[in-house]
Amino acid sequence: MASSADTFKPGPKLNRFLSRPRPMLIGGKWVLAQSGKTFEVLNPATEEPLAAVAEGDREDIELAVRAARRAFESGPWPRITPSERGKLLWKLADLLEQNLEEFATLETLDNGKPLTVARVADVPLAVDLFRYMAGWATKIEGNTIPISVPYAPGAEFFSYTLREPVGVVGQIIPWNFPLLMAAWKIGPALATGCTVVLKPAEQTPLSALRLGELILEASYPPGVVNIVPGFGETAGAALAAHPDVDKVAFTGSTEVGKQIVKAAGASNLKKVTLELGGKSPNIVYGDADLKTAIPGAASAIFFNHGQCCCAGSRLYAEKNVFDKVVEGVAAEAKKIRLGPGMNPKTEMGPLVSQEQLTRVCSYIESGLAEGAKTVVGGKRAGNRGYFVEPTIFVNTRPTMKVIREEIFGPVVAAIPFSDPEEIVSSANNTVYGLAAAVWTRDVSKAHRLARQLRAGTVWINCFNIFDAALPFGGYKQSGWGREMGHAALELYTEVKAVTVRL
Ligand code: NAP
Ligand code: MG
Repeated sequence: MASSADTFKPGPKLNRFLSRPRPMLIGGKWVLAQSGKTFEVLNPATEEPLAAVAEGDREDIELAVRAARRAFESGPWPRITPSERGKLLWKLADLLEQNLEEFATLETLDNGKPLTVARVADVPLAVDLFRYMAGWATKIEGNTIPISVPYAPGAEFFSYTLREPVGVVGQIIPWNFPLLMAAWKIGPALATGCTVVLKPAEQTPLSALRLGELILEASYPPGVVNIVPGFGETAGAALAAHPDVDKVAFTGSTEVGKQIVKAAGASNLKKVTLELGGKSPNIVYGDADLKTAIPGAASAIFFNHGQCCCAGSRLYAEKNVFDKVVEGVAAEAKKIRLGPGMNPKTEMGPLVSQEQLTRVCSYIESGLAEGAKTVVGGKRAGNRGYFVEPTIFVNTRPTMKVIREEIFGPVVAAIPFSDPEEIVSSANNTVYGLAAAVWTRDVSKAHRLARQLRAGTVWINCFNIFDAALPFGGYKQSGWGREMGHAALELYTEVKAVTVRL
């Protein structure tokens, strides 16, 4: 394992940020928790404390929701023009870009991902999302609709629709792409004129808190964005159940997603959007270009250490190429350099937490106990930091836990198939429906499969291609609604029909 950067020392800018307990952002001010409590955030590569963060709870959520409500209803925000909203978002993107290196470092220290990845993916994608949403701020339009009212003969009407912001939005995000998930949530909310209370994941609150500083620097009015770090069971649950929150947008596990729906229903029937787990099929046909399909299949599962909701965790390969594909992906897995994300040579960092390490290792053990075999990997790597070896299972059965459940680690099951038609039902045989991929040189087959796969995203001869303009979200238990693209804006607005008698 690469190791040198264990001794990484933050520069003065990061030091300023990490050396004091990080307060929360409420009503445009940095404040400590009402309880005075803080919690520790660890560096997953070293298991050492990285920073202390204010621990938000019900009382802090209460204050944040009040600030968001005030900002939504009075003050400058509701009167700001769409063009100005767009400019503010663009300014936030510029500030983020100017601080790219600091954000990439923060993300690496907090989440564990390689710095080389955070630099080219996490931060630039967040910048791009804000710019994309900046453009939409001036393009949120209603329709004029001709009507024919049978019980008002001869009367003339003029009808039109308005798209109005849904209101105060609670946003709860996970730890796998902390900054990017904050951007996916905050971007459309600000473009449409909503106000926000964001709860980052307890493992990775730092980049969202630093983003809060940029939001103030960009001169957003107080209370438009409030950021309350804390635990899911307390702060998160209080936000989902708050009667004065108009919508909750959640990304995380399907299990917690169901609790969010319950809390939303029991409180005030707030709108809910969910981006949940996945068990994405990645299908390699015998006629695929294996030179791209093999590294593609490896990256589909090993990118971000498998901690991707869309990870290609079920690798189906046609029988005539199965051995070659498994050997190829295993060779790719063996080449991956594990180490602390700050080391420039590292290609895979640690999992985010002890809890994830335990969870992923117990899935590996369950696979072995149920009779599956590992071709490569199969255990923790080293004894310091939450590292797991890239792992490939073969000899699985569809009923095994490692086939049915989301592992959220660098663990893939390779499964042979012989009937090119039957593969559709195997691929769709899951409660999830977030993403799927097909590798083939046969264009018609690829498009046919794209229609048959029950998933919100289908990649053909590629994987993990994201763009702010493309909607992302799940079929079945992978979620409700879409993020990014103009589809996201619809879910942050209400439609009002206005009719005038002429
Ligand atoms: P999680 O519990 O679903 O956490 C996601 C977010 O929800 C976090 O901010 C979390 O806060 C919050 N939360 C937890 N319980 C809540 C509640 N009762 N009410 C409101 N908010 C709540 O995910 P996790 O525990 O970090 O990971 C568990 C599994 O979820 C993973 O192994 C993986 O399978 C899946 N997962 C999926 C995604 C995805 O992108 N789809 C992302 C992360 C995890 P805390 O951080 O304080 O718990
Ligand atoms: Mg949790």
